Amino acid sequence: METLIKPASGAMIESLQRTLGADAVLLAAQDQQRYLTDWRGQFQGKALAVLRPSSVDQVAGIMRACHGSGVQVVPQGGNSGLAGGATPSASGEQLVLSLERMNRVRLIDPIDDSMIVEAGCILQQVQEQAAEAGKYFPLSFGAEGSAQVGGFLSTNAGGTAVIRYGNARALTLGLEVVLPDGAIWHGLKRLRKDNTGYDLKQLFIGAEGTLGIITAAALRLYPRARQSCVALVAFGSPRQAQKGLARFKDELGEFLSAYELISQPALSLAQSHLHMAPALLPDAPWVALVQVATANSSLALGELVENVLASCFDDGIAADAVVATNERQAAAFWRIRESITAAERAAGKSVKHDVSVPIGAIPGFLDAVQQAVGEAHPELRIIAFGHMGDGNIHLNILLPADAGAQHLAAALNTLVHDIVTSFEGSISAEHGIGQYRVSELIRLKSPTEIALMQKIKQALDTTGQMNPGKVLPAPRD
Ligand SMILES: Cc1cc2nc3c(=O)[nH]c(=O)nc-3n(C[C@H](O)[C@H](O)[C@H](O)COP(=O)(O)OP(=O)(O)OC[C@H]3O[C@@H](n4cnc5c(N)ncnc54)[C@H](O)[C@@H]3O)c2cc1C
Repeated sequence: METLIKPASGAMIESLQRTLGADAVLLAAQDQQRYLTDWRGQFQGKALAVLRPSSVDQVAGIMRACHGSGVQVVPQGGNSGLAGGATPSASGEQLVLSLERMNRVRLIDPIDDSMIVEAGCILQQVQEQAAEAGKYFPLSFGAEGSAQVGGFLSTNAGGTAVIRYGNARALTLGLEVVLPDGAIWHGLKRLRKDNTGYDLKQLFIGAEGTLGIITAAALRLYPRARQSCVALVAFGSPRQAQKGLARFKDELGEFLSAYELISQPALSLAQSHLHMAPALLPDAPWVALVQVATANSSLALGELVENVLASCFDDGIAADAVVATNERQAAAFWRIRESITAAERAAGKSVKHDVSVPIGAIPGFLDAVQQAVGEAHPELRIIAFGHMGDGNIHLNILLPADAGAQHLAAALNTLVHDIVTSFEGSISAEHGIGQYRVSELIRLKSPTEIALMQKIKQALDTTGQMNPGKVLPAPRD
C-alpha cells in the first residue's frame, strides 16, 4: 500500500478507524480508486483516506476531528458530477467523505406530499419509493441511477422536468446539514411557508460541498401522472423548435412536462451508440422530444397532442412527428435523449458547455456559436442538445485526439462563454462550477458577486476546510 499519511494525520486516521469502524475508512489504493476520478475520467486526485460514515453523528464526529486540524474534506455522492467537484486534489492530503452508506428513507408522508431521505439515497431509489407510495418525485436525468440526494442538491441539478416542476432547489423543503465545525443544523422542516428570516437551506443547495455536508433532505412530492404522451417532433431550425415550444405551452399549459431539443449530430451519435436504426425522422436538422402528462385519466391526452401537432404542421412550424404508440416506444425515445452524454464520452474528448440564455435568445445564440466555431475551426463537430424549455443548452464540441487539444479546449471555452455572456446567459445552467469552471467564473462574474460569495464562504467555513478550490479558487491559488 502506498504511504501518503503524515504523522499528525496518521493519528487522526487511527482515531477515525476506532470511531467509524475499519471498513468505513478506506486506505488501500485499490479500495480508493473509484472515489478518486470523475465520471468522465477527466479529473484525478489522491486522498489521505476515503471515509464512509453511516450516520449524521458520525459525519459530525469527522468534521469535529478535521476542524482546525488543517485536513480538508471533499464530500462525495454518486460521483456523477460533470465539473470535477467531488474529485480531491492531487495533494493526497484531503479526505473524501462519501455519503453512500447514509441511504435510508426516513419518512414518506402522502398527505403532506413530502419525503425525508438521507444524502446517500440514489435518485432512482427516491423516485421508486415515491412511486410505491403513489406519488411522484419529478427530478430526472441521465445519471439518475448513480446521482445521490446530497450530490443532486449540492449541484442544484435540473434535468428534463424543470419546465414543469423546477430544479432541485424548487423540490427541497428542508435540509439537515453538518457544518464545518461539526455542529448539526436540524433544518428538516416540511413547510411550504416559513418566513422566519434568511432561508438557510438555499445556501447549501448548489454550494457543491463548499459550505457544509448535507446529510438528509425533506423533498416535495407531486401527484403521479396517470397518462402521458411522448413524441419526437422534427423542426427545420431552433427558431422553428422555439415556435413549437410556445405552441405546446399555449395549448397544453402545465401538462407540458418536457421539451428537449436535440440536434441531428447529437441524435445520430446517440442512435449509433445504442445500435438503433439510424433515422426516426430522416431529414430533421433538429428534433424536440416532447412529453405531456397528467394525473387526470379521463382526458384524451393523445388527441390533444395530435391537435397541437396538426396546428404546427398547418402553420409550417414543424415538418414531421412520431408519437409513441406505447410505453416501450416512449421509453426508447427517452433512451436516445438520455444516452447522448454517454455516446459523447464514447466518441472521445470533447469540450463541454452547460449554458443557459433567455429562452427567446436560444436560436440567436446557437447561430452565433455555429458561426464563430465554424469560422475558427471548420473541422470541429458541435453536439448541441438540451432542455429548451429552460433555456439550457448543452453545447459540446468534439475534439481531435492530438496534443494541442487542451489549448484548443481553453480557446473554445472562452469563445463560447463570451457569446453566452453577450446574450446575458449563464456559463453553468445545471452542472455547477466544480474545479472545471472556476477560472471562467472568476473571469465572467462581477467582482461584487465574487466578493459576496467569498464573504459567505468565509463566514461558514472559517478554516477553509470544505472542498477548497471548488466553485471559488483555493486561497493559495
Ligand atoms: C450521463 C449524465 C447525464 C447528466 N444529466 C444531467 C442533467 O440532465 N441535469 C443535471 O443537472 N445534471 C446532469 N448530470 C450531472 C449531475 O450534476 C450529477 O449527475 C448529479 O447532480 C450529482 O450528483 P452526485 O451524487 O453524483 O454528486 P457528486 O458528483 O458526487 O458531487 C457533486 C458535487 O456535490 C458535492 N456533494 C456531494 N454530496 C454532497 C453532500 N452530501 N453534501 C455536500 N456536498 C456534496 C460534491 O463535493 C461535488 O462538489 C448528468 C451526469 C451524467 C453522468
